[in-house]
Amino acid sequence: MSLLVVGSVAFDSIRTPHGEAEGILGGSASFFSVAASWFGPVKVVAVVGEDFGEEHLEVFRLRSIETTGIERARGKTFRWKGEYVGDMNDARTLDLQLNVFQNFSPKVPESDASTEYVFLGNIDPKLQLHVRRQVPHARMVACDSMNYWIEGSLDDLKKTLREVHALVINEGEARMLSGHQNLRKAAKEIQKMGPEIVVIKRGEHGVSLFTNGSIFSAPAFMLEEFKDPTGAGDSFAGGFMGHLARTGDFSEANLRRAVVYGSVMASFAVEEFGLKRLLRLTPQEIEGRVREFAQLTRFDV
Ligand code: AMP
Repeated sequence: MSLLVVGSVAFDSIRTPHGEAEGILGGSASFFSVAASWFGPVKVVAVVGEDFGEEHLEVFRLRSIETTGIERARGKTFRWKGEYVGDMNDARTLDLQLNVFQNFSPKVPESDASTEYVFLGNIDPKLQLHVRRQVPHARMVACDSMNYWIEGSLDDLKKTLREVHALVINEGEARMLSGHQNLRKAAKEIQKMGPEIVVIKRGEHGVSLFTNGSIFSAPAFMLEEFKDPTGAGDSFAGGFMGHLARTGDFSEANLRRAVVYGSVMASFAVEEFGLKRLLRLTPQEIEGRVREFAQLTRFDV
C-alpha cells in the first residue's frame, strides 16, 4: 500500500480545562501520519521553517514515516494557539500564524505520483487541488476542510470536492457547506458536489458515515481520561485511511470498520496532549479498543 498526506506541520500552544502545553509538535499532517503509521507506510508532504529541528523530524522517523516530502523553507513553522472550554467540543483559535505556509506550493515527489491513497488535510483548497492533480492514479482521495475555507474560498473548495472520493468533515462545517441543518440532507447535498463518501465527525456524539444509499453511525469511545481534543479529527482520518489502505477494500462493511478504526485512533489521541499517546501505542491496544467498540454497540433485535 502507499498512503500520502498533505497538511500542516505545526507548533501548537493549547489550553484545556486539564492543563496547557506550549509550542508542541502538532498540525493536521502530523496527527494524521502518526495515527496512520500504525497501519502501514505513510508519506508526508508539508513545509516547515528554520525553527524546525532534527528532534522534531525524529518524531516522524521513529514511526518510519517518510519525510522527504517535508520541505524546509526560510522563515518560521506554522503556529496555532487554541483553547477549549466546557465540554471541549469546539476549539477557539486564539492565534494562527501561517508563516512558511503563505508561500507554499506542495510538491509530491516524482516517485510518489503513483500513490493510491491520499489524504488532503485541512489547508487552502487550492493547494489541495494542486496535490490531487499530482496523484492521478489514486484509488481513494479523501479530504478535510474547515469554516475558514468554507467562508473564504468556497469556489476553490467546490473545485476540489469535484475531484475527491471522500470528505471527512465536522458537523458544523457540513451544515455550513451544504446550507442544511439536517445532517442527512447535508450529506446528500455534499454528495452532489462530488464525494460519494461523506464522513461527518460529531465530537462527543461520534461519527456518521454516508455512502450511496446507506448510513452508519458509531458513537465516540467513552473515556475516563480526556485531556486535549486537538488532533482528534486528523487522527480519525489517519485510522480511517490507514485501514482502507491496508485492506484495499471499499465495501460498505469495510468502510464501517474503517470508521471504527478512525474512532479508536481519535480516542487515543485525546487522552494526552499533542502526539504523546499516539506515539506510545501498541497494535494490541488498538485491536483491544476495536473489540471494546464492538461490545459497546452490539445488541440483539
Ligand atoms: P483537528 O484534528 O481538527 O483537531 O486539528 C488540529 C490541528 O490542526 C492542530 O494541530 C493545528 O496545528 C492544526 N490547524 C489549526 N488551524 C489550522 C489551519 N487553518 N490550517 C491548517 N492546520 C490548522
